[in-house]
Amino acid sequence: MIISIPKNVLNEMINYIYINKPNEAVCFLLGFINNDVYNVKELVKAKNAANSPAEFNVEPDELLNIYKRAEEKGLDIVAIVHSHHGLPVPSTTDIKYMKLNPYVWIIISMTDLKMQAFILKEEKVDPVKIMIVD
Ligand SMILES: [Zn+2]
Repeated sequence: MIISIPKNVLNEMINYIYINKPNEAVCFLLGFINNDVYNVKELVKAKNAANSPAEFNVEPDELLNIYKRAEEKGLDIVAIVHSHHGLPVPSTTDIKYMKLNPYVWIIISMTDLKMQAFILKEEKVDPVKIMIVD
């Protein structure tokens, strides 16, 4: 499984994480899936309603607006991105929410900007390869 992310979207992601420091930042990536490749087209910033350096959540109203925006553009939500102070690996809480939100989960470390992507498949966390494109 591969997620393809345009360079400009990656820059927006990094900026947004930087702006939200020390709190966790959260945003969504819209795009489409083709032959096991998640093609990202654009980023939608979300507000971390938990306002916390250790967790995030998104208000249902905001999530609904993001779904509407995706639908208007003929795209799907393909990934959710959030930041961690520690390693860019899913926490126990993240895994719980991965079950409810079956997108690619991208986690970025606020410390060194290392980034990893995962998807939950048959109750197992699988790595997803990240490809940056122009
Ligand atoms: Zn997390």
